[in-house]
Amino acid sequence: MSNQVKLNEIFGAKVFNDAVMRQRLPKMIYSDFVKVRTGQKEMTQAVADILANAMKDWALEHGATHYCHWFQPMTGLTAEKHDSFISPLPDGRTILEFSGKELIKGEPDASSFPSGGLRVMFEARGYTVWDYTSPVFIKGKTLYIPSAFCTYNGQALDKKTPLLRSMDALNKQAMRVLRALGEVEPLSVTPTLGPEQEYFLVDRKFFEQRLDLMLCGRTVYGAPPPRGQEMEDHYFGSMHERVSAFMDEVNLELWKLGVSAKTQHHEVAPAQYEIAPIFTTANVATDHNQITMETLQKVARRHGFVCLMHEKPFAGVNGSGKHNNWSLVTDTGTNLLDPGTTPHENMVFLVFLCAVIRAVDKYGPLLRASVANPGNEHRLGANEAPPAIVSIFLGDQLTDIVEQLAAGGAKTSKQGGSLKLGTSLLPPLPKDCTDRNRTSPFAFTGNKFEFRMVGSSQSTAGPCFTLNTIVADVLMEIADVLEKSQDVRADVQKLLKQFATDHARIIFNGDNYGPEWVLEAQRRGLPNLRSTVESLAPMLDKEHVALFERQGVLGRHELQARTEILYENYSKTLNIEAGVTLEIAKRQILPRCMRYATRLARSIKELTAAEADAPVQKRELHKVSRLIEELSGAIDALEKAVGKARASDTTLSKAESFRDEVFPAMGAVRKIADTLETLVDADLWPLPSYAQMLFTR
Ligand code: ADP
Ligand code: MG
Repeated sequence: MSNQVKLNEIFGAKVFNDAVMRQRLPKMIYSDFVKVRTGQKEMTQAVADILANAMKDWALEHGATHYCHWFQPMTGLTAEKHDSFISPLPDGRTILEFSGKELIKGEPDASSFPSGGLRVMFEARGYTVWDYTSPVFIKGKTLYIPSAFCTYNGQALDKKTPLLRSMDALNKQAMRVLRALGEVEPLSVTPTLGPEQEYFLVDRKFFEQRLDLMLCGRTVYGAPPPRGQEMEDHYFGSMHERVSAFMDEVNLELWKLGVSAKTQHHEVAPAQYEIAPIFTTANVATDHNQITMETLQKVARRHGFVCLMHEKPFAGVNGSGKHNNWSLVTDTGTNLLDPGTTPHENMVFLVFLCAVIRAVDKYGPLLRASVANPGNEHRLGANEAPPAIVSIFLGDQLTDIVEQLAAGGAKTSKQGGSLKLGTSLLPPLPKDCTDRNRTSPFAFTGNKFEFRMVGSSQSTAGPCFTLNTIVADVLMEIADVLEKSQDVRADVQKLLKQFATDHARIIFNGDNYGPEWVLEAQRRGLPNLRSTVESLAPMLDKEHVALFERQGVLGRHELQARTEILYENYSKTLNIEAGVTLEIAKRQILPRCMRYATRLARSIKELTAAEADAPVQKRELHKVSRLIEELSGAIDALEKAVGKARASDTTLSKAESFRDEVFPAMGAVRKIADTLETLVDADLWPLPSYAQMLFTR
């Protein structure tokens, strides 16, 4: 069998996709379902029953015994509750059953998932509702039904519900704009998403020796290794055999589940990698990204690795992000953010481009909040680049056009020309109209925007529904004007001029990592919300609550609940990290350092008895003893800070106390411990070193 045939057979083999449905469903039912999926028809009991039955038969043929509603609670992870297909009969036998009702709705006990006060404890009831826009699949022996998760009263308890709502809002407003611009063919507009996922691989044996990696997903200790990423020789470097074998298996598993894993490469840091799929509809892409993260972690263990999804597993080494490539596509296949060769003449493109620019400037703090989590705090702003300032990279060509728009109208598009490589042996290449900028948090990359602030461990749903919502809102503004317009062309010009002028400050094509940008951004009045805690506050600003309500994406209570959960999550995470810092310091590092000091003292005693001087040993003992004392003091200070933070009475003051007191106290303990790591006998040091973890493959 040729490789091509095999790949064709493998791809989507475990997915109840359209091909399978066409084969197994009566024609009428399939066409009804397609209409349901595209919002043109309501789901009926009859259609659901037939679908459920076909799914069950297909699943049983693939060896499945159970089904589960698979949902994405606000933990950012996924959850599933498995039920078997078995139904007992009165005579003691069983039949295998799966009804439309079971397919559509599940009732997990919701009381153990974070709800931020939306669901009081005695009202444990929560529902999972089948999201039929994302295909059902089989993993192991279970049929997975992608679902949304809500309270008894229909309030969203998950990441998917607001994502789906935001897609509706975006579709509605984008269609209004297209119609007003005279576009008659498209019937719908969908956001597309292609998330590039970064991660680290470490050897499992090292992972298991580090309580911090096991419990926090990041190292809370570790002296910088003598070699880091300064050689820059890892990026796109050739794959180590063991890593290759791991990736081959990851791809295979993902392809079976219909995830189009496409590119993979080494990242900048040692032991860091990236995997990217081919983009697809935003909510399917979100599901696929969850599957990708789970698969990476599962397969890594089979290969003796552990896959780290944390945004900053190693201090001083590049962190991991998840670049959310985002665009808008019509059902007729037009990418609304494709500039074409002469963007200045492309009115639809210019309107959507300027809508995004306005949305990002107007609602920058919401985008910042959508990527706020304790892990990302290490990546954004706090210690190392990239900064937490939201700005847009447009590149030369589009920046020039936006400047022309501000001046009254765009008349030309700069062209890239061709690139000559100085040898006749290589063909001349058409040059892209603009270079790349790897430092921008929100970069235009040819025919899409790449939102790069998203953290590697995060669900793409939050950043994506925020982006969808803010763009929908600006499109609504535009549609409101254009629908009433007597002269659409003239009014478009006017709007574009206004947007290009008002939002010039958000465009920045320079180096976002340089210290000058921080000052420049300040001059421009762009917010720089460095910590998670400060970046969450704007979520509840009056105009932001109104925005989410206006677009029907989240109600006030839902937003409040989400904010509450994010603050709580921040405090809980820091509480665990502080606990681990203390545990390792008191029970591993301090005892080992004391053992080393004793060893030195003994050696000094023995040498002195032998009438030898021991100047080096004495100096070492002195240094180590002093550091032990400092460490012990820092441990006490951290304990005190944690005690105080734990006793704070409000969610906000607790989060602030963890940020302002616990976080620096943890850093102080670490600093001393890391110095000790560079002094103490390597055989005694209780933790595998950065060099071991980053360079063993
Ligand atoms: P780069 O490293 O240049 O950013 P990659 O190929 O690693 O490029 O990743 C680009 C990602 O963007 C891929 O997941 C790709 O499918 C996705 N992408 C491309 N076009 C679109 C689009 N129109 N909408 C959303 N995502 C897109
Ligand atoms: Mg990229």
